[in-house]
Amino acid sequence: MTEDALIGLFTLFYLFFCTLLVAPPTEFVSAGLTVQNLFSHWLGSEDLNFVYYQFRRTSATLIFHSIFPLVYFLCLVLFQPQLKLLTPWNTSFFWQLYLLISILIFLSASLVVFYWSRNKWDNHPIARELTHLSSNEESWRAVASSINIEFRRIDKFTSGIPTGRRIIVTDSWVMKTSTYYIYIAHQNDIHLTISGSEDHSVSYESMTSVQYLNIDVISINQKLKPFTIRLNSLEYKELTDKLQSPVRNARNIVVRQSLSEQFLDAFREQVSQNPKFRLPPHMEVDTCIGCMQKESDIKLNKLCDDPEVGACVQCYCRPMWCLECMGKWFSSRQDQQHPEMWLGNRCPCPTCRAAFCMLDVCFIEK
Ligand SMILES: [Zn+2]
Ligand SMILES: [Zn+2]
Ligand SMILES: [Zn+2]
Repeated sequence: MTEDALIGLFTLFYLFFCTLLVAPPTEFVSAGLTVQNLFSHWLGSEDLNFVYYQFRRTSATLIFHSIFPLVYFLCLVLFQPQLKLLTPWNTSFFWQLYLLISILIFLSASLVVFYWSRNKWDNHPIARELTHLSSNEESWRAVASSINIEFRRIDKFTSGIPTGRRIIVTDSWVMKTSTYYIYIAHQNDIHLTISGSEDHSVSYESMTSVQYLNIDVISINQKLKPFTIRLNSLEYKELTDKLQSPVRNARNIVVRQSLSEQFLDAFREQVSQNPKFRLPPHMEVDTCIGCMQKESDIKLNKLCDDPEVGACVQCYCRPMWCLECMGKWFSSRQDQQHPEMWLGNRCPCPTCRAAFCMLDVCFIEK
């Protein structure tokens, strides 16, 4: 193989390696070869101080990416001695120029980061963005601490891997992280619209068909850049639960539901057709013991007349569950490989184990 071919091959390999570092696949992430891991000491804790972590992460990423051309040169110095790169004044003009540009790229990136970090990060693009989000009296630091506090809560919605693009929705903020930036909007002044969907017949991770949704987040505040969040349609329900405003679906895109959501819809449909259960005066209704949030609204009451052996049995428990929790319990007790059988199957009462079918689940009449 000629020397040129060797250098060409090495260059290709190096470019490939850099691409992997910039957009790490799952294997790289699990091996810890990410900016977040390499600089973890300097980055600090994301949970304690989300915004400052993002300042440092974007800065580290910029510097890390800026040394790639220089590292390439150093590799050639080591592995291609005939190019005489160790003594740059002896090599060709091409390599001299290359070295100069590589050093300039690294120096400019370092200068940019130095500029960002002046006055406790006042000049960072994310700090500028936060300034647009703050009211007149407060500084961007007040907005940052509000975001930090909400990020620490465990009930936030997150989608995506920590090392890549991530969507984070807290009680009042919608955020999307990217390589050198994070997009932030306040829940109270955004319009959300489903702008498109993509269907992929085979997912790389789960080997099944998946649907991805693109949702445009447009802020009323003109100074903030609009952005698009992209997520698996199975996460859509969880996202909308966390959002305060509705997501517009002007193009009537059919959002694919997860199996349990589809089942829950069918379950609700069937139960609403069943006769209602009139609550005897001595029976009381508490909050559902499954979710501790909704009031119990159903009673198991044997109504079907199935003559089969091992058929349904009357349950004498007082109402303790809401429809959603009972639906989830029902689907969890079914054969997960055969969802088409679920609607006709039976399930034991979560408390007394009496078998019931979907015809025996009744809404309570107050
Ligand atoms: Zn419940
Ligand atoms: Zn029971
Ligand atoms: Zn039954």
